[in-house]
Amino acid sequence: MTRCQALQQALGQAGLDALLLSSPVNRFYAGGFAFSAGWILILPQKAYLLTDFRYIEAARERCGQTFAVLEGTRRDAYGLPRLLKEHKVKRAGFEDRAMTVEQFSFWKKQLPAKLIAASSIPDRARQIKTQDEVAAIVGAQRVAEWALEQTLPFLKNNHTEKQIAAELTYRMLSNGASAIAFPPIVASGPNGALPHAEPGDRIVQDGDFVVLDFGCVFNGYCSDMTRTVAVGGVADEMKRVYHIVLQAQMAGIAAAQGGIAGKDIDAAARSVIENAGFGKQFGHGFGHGIGLEVHEGIPASKDTEQCLPAGSVISAEPGIYLPGRFGVRIEDMLLLTENGCQNLTNAPKELMIL
Ligand code: ZN
Ligand code: ZN
Repeated sequence: MTRCQALQQALGQAGLDALLLSSPVNRFYAGGFAFSAGWILILPQKAYLLTDFRYIEAARERCGQTFAVLEGTRRDAYGLPRLLKEHKVKRAGFEDRAMTVEQFSFWKKQLPAKLIAASSIPDRARQIKTQDEVAAIVGAQRVAEWALEQTLPFLKNNHTEKQIAAELTYRMLSNGASAIAFPPIVASGPNGALPHAEPGDRIVQDGDFVVLDFGCVFNGYCSDMTRTVAVGGVADEMKRVYHIVLQAQMAGIAAAQGGIAGKDIDAAARSVIENAGFGKQFGHGFGHGIGLEVHEGIPASKDTEQCLPAGSVISAEPGIYLPGRFGVRIEDMLLLTENGCQNLTNAPKELMIL
């Protein structure tokens, strides 16, 4: 079944006459083609791709088999009012989580159908990854791991966090990534205690832990990994904290399985950190969904009652953050299966001391 057919089936089940996709990410998901303006209109028996002059030729060539490809602009509402009338659409699902208030009021006036919030339809489809999607995520992950190996020598030679982040970025792109998934985090010494630190001008020093959190995009899909690396000598307490985080991550991985609630995976990791007395220093969730976007779908966090279906890809990233001193986070990506999970990250996790 193509993605378009799967969405056609889902719109029928939701009692809708049509599904309108307006976000670039969901247009790419359904159409396999990236275009910055336009719509995908999915009807039970037919699908349209509507875009402007800049993309029309490429869209016809790449999507012409699955979609009726029509040219339009926002000024003529991409021809949507006429198409909705022609196909007698009364209830049209739209992406409620991807529209601004301004866009919604514009389209509500333009479109002769009742607009029904339906972001959950593409969300549910994207939650379960196909083999091709997993292969793209693994591809992105291998590119990132290779970049880490090439960047590690930079941690030793008087480089700043910014320079190390620039090197990681350059390596991911030169290794074959089409983009970075997010600006890399390189946080050394006390900066490591800020979970989302911005790389700065601090030069990495002997005795530092350096938290490196980065990922890239390959065939449209994102990777995300974190390693905490020691430079020079490290204090015993740092080693102890590192091993608690690693044990917590392993406990979370052992609990990760399709059909389990996100909060139960989180709890398995969190209890290790709490039992070691660092519960308050782990202030974020165990993991998030990942795919076309670096954060998507159902998370594995404290408050997530929802179950993660087999085929979900999530991050596994517990951490301990000691303000003013240092931080440790270790992050892999997991593919949940019926009986457990497959770790998609290959990079070693034993404490590396450079
Ligand atoms: Zn990350
Ligand atoms: Zn992450």
